[in-house]
Amino acid sequence: MTEIVYLIKLGELTLKGGNREGFERVLRRNLTAMLRAKAPGAGVTNQPGRFYIHRAEAAGPAVEEVLSRLVGITGWARARRGEKTPEAVLAACVEEGRRLRETGARSFKVEARRADKSFPLGSQEICRAAGDAVLAQVPGLEVNVREPAGIIAVEIREKAYVYTLEKKGRRGLPAGSAGRGLLLLSGGIDSPVAGCLMAGRGMGLDAAYFHTPPYTSPEALDKTVKLAEIIGSYSMGVRLHAVNFTAVQGRIRERAPAEWATVLLRMAMMDAASAIARRLRAKCLITGESLSQVASQTIENLTCGESRARLPVLRPLVGLDKEAITTLAKDFGTYETSILPHPDCCVLFSPPHPVLRGNPEEAGALYEALELGPPFPDGGNTGPGGLLQEALRGMETRKCGYYEYRQGEPGDEGPAP
Ligand code: ATP
Ligand code: MG
Repeated sequence: MTEIVYLIKLGELTLKGGNREGFERVLRRNLTAMLRAKAPGAGVTNQPGRFYIHRAEAAGPAVEEVLSRLVGITGWARARRGEKTPEAVLAACVEEGRRLRETGARSFKVEARRADKSFPLGSQEICRAAGDAVLAQVPGLEVNVREPAGIIAVEIREKAYVYTLEKKGRRGLPAGSAGRGLLLLSGGIDSPVAGCLMAGRGMGLDAAYFHTPPYTSPEALDKTVKLAEIIGSYSMGVRLHAVNFTAVQGRIRERAPAEWATVLLRMAMMDAASAIARRLRAKCLITGESLSQVASQTIENLTCGESRARLPVLRPLVGLDKEAITTLAKDFGTYETSILPHPDCCVLFSPPHPVLRGNPEEAGALYEALELGPPFPDGGNTGPGGLLQEALRGMETRKCGYYEYRQGEPGDEGPAP
């Protein structure tokens, strides 16, 4: 009897010495929660360096969707798991050879690993016997050891595993293993990519979105929610905090020279985002800024924005050009949503001749003159409530792409953050 399982290779995790067990536990907890939502009934077991998903055959496409988004694995394959007899192994190789042929492949080779030395054939003998069996029974396939179109892999462990068509995993470190960051998320192409990249390094994410209704539309908010859901599919969920910045933007227009509008708006966002992040115990801010991509992102203007940040600002895209960022956006699946035509507040209010190299001292003086007030009444700030406080009081939070953890299940480390 063969069982169809999904075999998952862990890779980078297994290199991290003392941390390995902790990473594996987080990864298993993530996988279990994702499967419960997308492929109920499937279960996970593990061996050193490996996970297996059982009872997954009927839900194959859903399981494959989960695996294509699971951060922290090097590869995965749908595998046949069966008895450790030469007959069963050769039969499974022939089945896999047929699957390979159905994909259009014309050549193959067999790779075998025998961890259990009591199996009567050595690795080379398995390769030869399986190669012969496939050649004899699958018309249209021939052996090519140098450049095969597909590899049939055989592993003899506590059971025999046979698989082909191994897919690459997302690599990186499992979501939730590297603290929490607050992403400044607009509806553009860049910031969603920045979020996905940090999710790929194990960071848990919240997101802040500043909008200016009625100048920005409800569709612009919907679009940002959709983006947060996609980012959440890599980070085990995102809490999206929408902040109404209409009054703040109005104050900037009233009191500041037009060419400074974008820089001052970015400073106000950093100010507000720092306050939100501290409340959530996030340890950094994350933006989609890339050096000199637009006027507001010269090193001088980035410095002006950062002067209002009270946490480290991570900019994972800082050295990438638009083409590289677009390629990443397509790979993560955010691109199609990002290019929907609903402009955000920066686009709507950007001045025709923005300041290119803002002087931080001048920026600071102009910012003070806005009198936006301290962002929250706590944190030692006892001043009168101003526009920033009002904006944050009306902040609306929603969970996007969330997976629920359950207490007591394997790998469980308590409730989701
Ligand atoms: P993006 O494609 O991410 O919007 P962009 O190239 O359009 O980036 P800007 O609009 O100047 O560049 O924004 C730079 C960064 O500032 C964004 O990547 C994002 O992190 C943050 N940001 C901009 N607008 C907003 C907003 N409305 N709400 C939250 N963060 C924002
Ligand atoms: Mg933008």
